[in-house]
Amino acid sequence: MHPPRFELVAAPTPLQPAPRLGDWLGGVDLWIKRDDLTGLAFGGNKTRKLEFLVGEALARGCDTLLTAGAAQSNHCRQTAAAAARAGLQCHLALGGEAPARPEGNLLLDRLLGAHLHWCGEHRKGEDLPALRERLRSEGRRPYVVVYGGSDPVGATGFVEAARELRRQCEQHDLHFDHVVIASSSGGTQAGLIVGFEDDPRPPRLIGIRVDKTDATAAHAESIWELARTTAAFLGRRPPVDRERLVLRDDALYAAYGEVTAHEREAIRAAARLEGLLLDPVYTGRALAGLIALARAGEFGSGERVLFWHTGGTPALFGSAADLLTD
Ligand SMILES: *Cc1c(COP(=O)(O)O)cnc(C)c1O
Repeated sequence: MHPPRFELVAAPTPLQPAPRLGDWLGGVDLWIKRDDLTGLAFGGNKTRKLEFLVGEALARGCDTLLTAGAAQSNHCRQTAAAAARAGLQCHLALGGEAPARPEGNLLLDRLLGAHLHWCGEHRKGEDLPALRERLRSEGRRPYVVVYGGSDPVGATGFVEAARELRRQCEQHDLHFDHVVIASSSGGTQAGLIVGFEDDPRPPRLIGIRVDKTDATAAHAESIWELARTTAAFLGRRPPVDRERLVLRDDALYAAYGEVTAHEREAIRAAARLEGLLLDPVYTGRALAGLIALARAGEFGSGERVLFWHTGGTPALFGSAADLLTD
């Protein structure tokens, strides 16, 4: 099945070696997949999901995108940009209260013309049904993008991303033994699990948890369920090998979005060794997880490792106090 797609990604995103960072890790053959460069309003992994979510919204004749996230949500910022590209209105249900000075992603949400609804403790879309009804009563036709864009439609973007990576590997005669990603709402990992099913020699996909709100086992179960429903949505055979789902909580040093010395070390190493900017919430913690795995000797000698950069860099602006302390 070919679900409707609204093109947003400047594909393929670059695949680059990171030799200095790899040496610093004790001789890891390290590469980076640059999904911080997806090409839409500072990029990020949500752009891939939104190609299919916006495609579906347009196919259904909707005129408004409605989604939710934290105040510094990258997903919300990319949804606002995708809505602008598609000529749709965008409403965002954000956790917290309106700050006096909008910074980072929040500044971009405003510039992109999104309508903001502040929801206090509710940062995961608890208020979306009520907002949808309100928009309907005002005569709009809203399309609800679930938290993180992680449903079978959104995850399809990462089934496609696995195919994109396979083509790049064929072109450059490369093979990855491990692929490391930040994992939160799970659409990225679930889509890649389904996409790698086509691979005769699939890499070991390692999701690094960044949010400890749920228990690890429950989080893993939700990702596995999403992988299976995504495959079914696309008319594919659902994955059966549960070993393919690797979800690590080694790097859950603190609550979601809290920066510790581990994330600071990872962010500085990437910046100072490769000129590569990570974000404080997702990729900083995910690289901290990769560093922990390397130090624990989990990558064999001669094995090649891909770090999938999922974006988020606008959140750096506004994080000086967290990032510049020692
Ligand atoms: C949303 C996000 C993730 C996590 O992706 P999921 O599909 O929600 O698991 C990782 N990195 C960044 C920068 C994100 O914005």
